[in-house]
Amino acid sequence: MIRLNPNYDKLQSDYLFVEIARRVNKHLAGNSKRKLIKLGIGDVTKPLSATVIKAFHQGVDEQASKTTFKGYGPDQGYLFLRAAIAQADYHERGCDCIDASDIFISDGAKCDTSNFQELFASDIKVALPDPVYPVYADTNVMAGRTGFAQNGRYQGLIYLEGNESNGFVPSPGELVNNPAELVYLCFPNNPTGATANREQLGDWIQWALSQGAIILYDSAYEAFITDTNTPRSVYEIPGADKCAVEFRSFSKTAGFTGVRCAYTVVPGAIEINGIKLQNMWNRRHSTKFNGVSYPVQKAALAVYSAEGRREIKANIDSYLANARIILDAMNSLGYQYWGGVNSPYVWIKTNEDSWSTFDKILKGADVVITPGSGFGKMGQGYIRISAFNSAENVREALERIVDLLS
Ligand code: PLP
Repeated sequence: MIRLNPNYDKLQSDYLFVEIARRVNKHLAGNSKRKLIKLGIGDVTKPLSATVIKAFHQGVDEQASKTTFKGYGPDQGYLFLRAAIAQADYHERGCDCIDASDIFISDGAKCDTSNFQELFASDIKVALPDPVYPVYADTNVMAGRTGFAQNGRYQGLIYLEGNESNGFVPSPGELVNNPAELVYLCFPNNPTGATANREQLGDWIQWALSQGAIILYDSAYEAFITDTNTPRSVYEIPGADKCAVEFRSFSKTAGFTGVRCAYTVVPGAIEINGIKLQNMWNRRHSTKFNGVSYPVQKAALAVYSAEGRREIKANIDSYLANARIILDAMNSLGYQYWGGVNSPYVWIKTNEDSWSTFDKILKGADVVITPGSGFGKMGQGYIRISAFNSAENVREALERIVDLLS
């Protein structure tokens, strides 16, 4: 009889969103009279902008004509999109170390952050933040780098603790007695909304260079950074092009969660034992992936037009205005919080079990939030409220929460 991959037995159940759905369904089956407002999931609610949708349509129309039809595109993505990304996201921000040849277009940062670990030996030491997006841990479990979980943590993974004293920005000092070879960082962070400043990122880059380690830097939420001093890219830090891979996505930046387009930057300057990491990723990408569709890449290109940039900024500003409503409500309740300024997420300290707060808000305010404990052990006692919804819904939800908790 065929045998299954035993590593999948080690995975903890997909508890968080399954359990949220179970509790929400139970609540809806009761006799709640008000509409349920969801501030739990991290999905955008605004449609694609006018300029993006126009380019998308044009791309589709081109597929209808013999003269403009396109079949398979380049594995790495069309040069028109890679060149626009290199110019707008890197050169305009002073990161001249990155060019179009370093950029790989894909259908999601989830896949890329999941798949990148394949390039490394199966027995490397991996460190990742807690709390954080759960995909980094689970994909290393699937690859056989961990043992079973004990007390919510996989044996063999190194957890970098985010807490109040470090502002949810762990430092490489935590790895002094437990060196890692691969480190995941995520800023602005999901779920805490914390951002790393130049000095903090500089420490990580110095550490990685001195250890010969690689940093996988997930900046899926960089477009929400409003503070001009906060780096939007890891390549704003000198030396990062020798030790860091950056993951970006059009999902939250431009509302592409249902359209699917993202990119990964693997600088040509990263070499391990004389082998270019970029060549390995190219081999992996072109073997296992056949490219993002032409109309989607045309739509993504429109994000960088003058009109596209204006429209996208307006959408992001409106989500950030929603975050402001959440922050004002937390101020009025006297709750301590993080994020919400350079991030669509607000991370709130509740001083009680995360699920108890979840239940209280669901039952008493008909609002769905996310319990912090679902993002790791360090999330216990916190909740995450997302700004992805209409201003009207966010206002109403927060009025209900303030009435309930004050
Ligand atoms: N990285 C982080 C930190 C996320 O929170 C998410 C989605 O929620 C992703 C990556 C996934 O992005 P994509 O939609 O490009 O797969």
